[in-house]
Amino acid sequence: MKLLSLPVCPHCGLVYTYSETAHIKSGPRMCIHCKKKFRVEKRTGTAVMISAVIIISVIFNLIVLYTSKGMSFPGFMMLTAADAAAAAAGVLMLPLTVRFIKEKPSKAEKRETRRQRSVNNGGKK
Ligand SMILES: [Zn+2]
Repeated sequence: MKLLSLPVCPHCGLVYTYSETAHIKSGPRMCIHCKKKFRVEKRTGTAVMISAVIIISVIFNLIVLYTSKGMSFPGFMMLTAADAAAAAAGVLMLPLTVRFIKEKPSKAEKRETRRQRSVNNGGKK
């Protein structure tokens, strides 16, 4: 599984676009293509992305602070801007961490589809 990629419908394999993913809400959803159900999982990806941004920023700041002898005010501002840019990049990449998970059909739904199948088979021919 790729860490950063647009989510794919687990049923029909339709790749959702960046804007579709950015606007989708987490929880149970229906595929716009095959109308089958899946669950939108955002929290795990968001948590991973936030921790990655924080870790990268802290390491980067430490490297800059240790290599530069005495931080000037413009230098400090540049560092802050770099941290803000990292955070913004992380937010922009958030839709790439969204995952669609196949929703397990409930017992009632399973029974329903089985009944429909037998009705269809019996009705025709
Ligand atoms: Zn689909």
